[in-house]
Formats: sequence, structure tokens, C-alpha cells
Amino acid sequence: MWRGRPRPRRHGIISPVKSGANTDLYRKLPSVDELLRAPAIADLISREGQAAVTESARLVLSRLREEIATGLLDAEGLELALSGVASAVEREVRQSLCFSLRNVINATGVILHTNLGRAPLALSALDDIREVASGYSNLEFDTETGGRGKRDVHVDRLFRKLLSGEMAELRSAGRARAPVPTLAPVPTLNSISTIVVNNNAAAVLLALNTLAEGGEVVVSRGELVEIGGSFRIPDVMAKSRAILREVGTTNRTRIADYERAINENTRLLLRVHRSNFQITGFTEQPRIEDLIALANQRNIPLVEDLGSGALFDLRSVGVSDEPGVLYSLQAGVDVVTYSGDKLLGGPQAGVLSGRADLIARMRSNSLFRALRVDKLTYAALEATLLAYVKRDHDAIPALRMMRLSKEEIGKRADAVAEKVRSATLRVEVIDGESVIGGGAAPSAVLPTRLLAVSHKALSADEVAARLRAFDPPIIARVEEGRVLLDLRTVFPEQDPLLVEAIARIESRSAKARIQNAE
Ligand SMILES: *Cc1c(COP(=O)(O)O)cnc(C)c1O
Repeated sequence: MWRGRPRPRRHGIISPVKSGANTDLYRKLPSVDELLRAPAIADLISREGQAAVTESARLVLSRLREEIATGLLDAEGLELALSGVASAVEREVRQSLCFSLRNVINATGVILHTNLGRAPLALSALDDIREVASGYSNLEFDTETGGRGKRDVHVDRLFRKLLSGEMAELRSAGRARAPVPTLAPVPTLNSISTIVVNNNAAAVLLALNTLAEGGEVVVSRGELVEIGGSFRIPDVMAKSRAILREVGTTNRTRIADYERAINENTRLLLRVHRSNFQITGFTEQPRIEDLIALANQRNIPLVEDLGSGALFDLRSVGVSDEPGVLYSLQAGVDVVTYSGDKLLGGPQAGVLSGRADLIARMRSNSLFRALRVDKLTYAALEATLLAYVKRDHDAIPALRMMRLSKEEIGKRADAVAEKVRSATLRVEVIDGESVIGGGAAPSAVLPTRLLAVSHKALSADEVAARLRAFDPPIIARVEEGRVLLDLRTVFPEQDPLLVEAIARIESRSAKARIQNAE
């Protein structure tokens, strides 16, 4: 329909050198305008908009022009290409408008998987984001006085409730063996405040800069950690313009090492949770109680970077020795920092909870303004905290996944296995371990049941790649020549998708076999 009409060249499009033979071919190409008038394309425009379709049409045509120039297309090939030009434009539009960031199914069994977006949000958090974000809100507005308000009051209220010790069963969250020391000052309801910044790295930066800029911070050499993605304590320290004063050795640091390091320039003692590794063997680390006593005695604040920072009793899922936020505060740590999207199970955020006077100094630091979070984060965080206040832990997906029993997971795995087993696909349900991830309890594992998939003709890596190619992509572990899928981190409503994806590995490879045989 576009053939045989010469037309002028347009600007901004590759105009290859023309030889006599392919000038004719160029003539057969429609103009962008002509292409846009084709019925199939007009339809596409009504759905996806003029701008995106025009851009895609230009791209498709310039590609054809290039193929003519390089001799890839002869008259016959061009004829064929032009017959499919509308669908080429449609494909291009679809590709240009599709999301880069999208859902995947996490079958790794790592609950707080940093590469897969850490904590999935509670439904109530999603509802609240929609509610707050679709209109205006009282983010920084006091509806009572009609004057300006502060954005951090919205969650400070709930943190106060959760950290005040009102909730008796939270009292000893974490650190199962050590009881709350009786000598430590128990913070009262009003002396603990909380502010929120963009992530825990930002929280540590803000704490160090506010409390120790230009002065020294004492840290054990055994705690100079790197958390994945370039969060290194010495680097953050340098950026905060505090001076790192390392004490002790990699494996052993005593309270006396801290004592000796304190001088008139010391502004802060810092304890960092060893989130992603363990030191075993000949080791020593002062108890937090000893650090608290030293900090009180010398009148130097003690900040603890908890990393994960549980707001619930981890012993309920069989994990001990992971510090809880409440425990540290009640023991007398001045300020704790922790992530919003690790064990708390909420949105990405960095939380600073502690002595009201120190938190007030951080709030008035101009860095706080630069590191602050938006209304979407406050909405999601407030909804997540409300679930804690209501003690509705199962509403928070990460907590719900932690609490799933091996038997429940096994039952679902059996049901999936039943549906996908075949002559070429070997699917077993075996014992295994899930991990919490996100730098929480590096040594703690949760017993689970795994789907172990292997294929007669395909390697485990190939099977895993096919699962990733599914829509939505399914991310699994590969171990000892098998693909392992842990349903602990798969939402039950995604089980049928898993069945479909695994079955599809089978049908594609069956087709391939038939073709090979022919
Ligand atoms: C995870 C972690 C961080 C970094 O937290 P983000 O929220 O990812 O910025 C810092 N310190 C410790 C101990 C951690 O575990």
C-alpha cells in the first residue's frame, strides 16, 4: 500500500549512502506519517498514545533503512518486512512502554533478599500508600491549629507506643539469654523518640555526623563491617567527618580496650551488629551492658547500629541472639539505628530511636532534611507499625513467612510436585533450610521443605534460566546440579504460576526433542 511513491527524506533519520540498486528499495518505505495512518497503527495510537507510537514507528523505519543500506534486505526481504511492519511497531511500543522494575517470584527461601527488594509490604501498607498518595495529606500540617506540622510526628507516636515497654511481651525481644539489667535506667515513655531517614546507612551517617563531627568515635576492629552494596563503616565514618578510633583486634576486643581509647576528643562509642558474618573460635566482644556502663560512667553517648532491628520476639520463630530494638533501648543504649525493610518488614527506611535530646539534635541537623523520607514511606511505615500495635504479626508478609512451619510448606510443595512430575522432569520434595537474610541472624536458619527439580536433557542452570524467563520471572537456587525452590518465600496464590512455569519447561523441551529426532 505504500509502494512506489518517492518522498523527501526527513531530518534526524539515518540517511545511508545510496547506491543505484537500493534507491528503489528506499522508495518502497512508507513515511512515518503514512505508517501512522495505517488502520492497525491508528488503533495502537488510540491505546498507547501518539508520542510513543510515533517514536516506535520512526525507530522501526530507520532500522529498515539501515538494513537496506547494509544490504541485509533485498526486494523480497523488504516486501516481507513491510507486511509485518505494523506488528513490528506494536512490539517496539510494548517494549518501550513496559516496566523495567517488575514483580518476580522469590523461590530462593531468602526472606529479606536485598537483590529482590527485601520486605514485601503488608496489604494495609499498600492501601495506606494509595490513600495518602492519591490526594493531599496532613504530612506537614497540623489540622488542629491550622499551622505547620512536622512530618516525623506521624510515626514517632507509634514508635513511642511500641518502644515504651507498654507491650510486655516485647520487653525481652531478642538476646534471649541476657535479662534486662536492673541497674540500667529504664527509659520512660517520653524520653524515647524516633526519626526516620532514607535507609539505615543514612541513619548511621546522620548519627555519626550529629554526635561526633570533628571528634573521635571508638569502634571495635571486629565490627568494622561491610554490608553488601558498599556500606563500609570506615567509609561512612569518613563521610560523617568523624574520626574512627579502632580498638581491639579482629577477633577479640575487651572493655578495657574501649576504656584506654577514650580521651577528651571522644564523642561517641559505636557498636555495630555483625549482620552478615560470624566470628567463631577464639573470640571476645564486650557485652552491651559493659559498654552501657562505660558510656554512662564517662558520659559519652553509645550508639548501636542494629542493622535489622526486630520489633518482635524472634525467639517465637526459633531465632535467639539477634538483638531486638526494645532490648537495646531498655538496657540503656542511647540511640539505636535499624532498617525499615529488614526484620521490621516495612518500606525502605532508616530508623533512629533513642534519647529524646540526642534525637532532637539529629532532627535539627541539615543532613536530616537531605536524608528525609517522603509521604509514601511514612504511609507504609505507619500501617506496618499499626500491625505491630494490633499484634497482627501475620499481616506483615516477612513475619508471616518466618512463622510458616515446615509442614505447611511441605504440603504446598507436595501439591506442586504432584502436578508437574513427568518422564523427563524429576521433582522431589526434600528437607532444607530457609534463611532470614537482610543481615539478620546470619547463622539462623529456618527448617523448610524444598522442591528439587532436575531434568533429563537440561542442566540445572538451563532449567533455572527458563524459570527466570517466565512471566513473572521465578528466581530459584541451584545446588548440586538441581534447581531448588523454597515455597516459604512464594505467596500461596503464586503456587499455580509455579506449576505453570515448571510444566512449561517440560513442554518446550519435549518440542525440542521431537525436532531433534526429525
Ligand atoms: C543492613 C545494614 C546496614 C544498611 O542498612 P540499609 O537500610 O540497607 O541502608 C547497616 N548496618 C548494618 C549492621 C546492617 O545490617
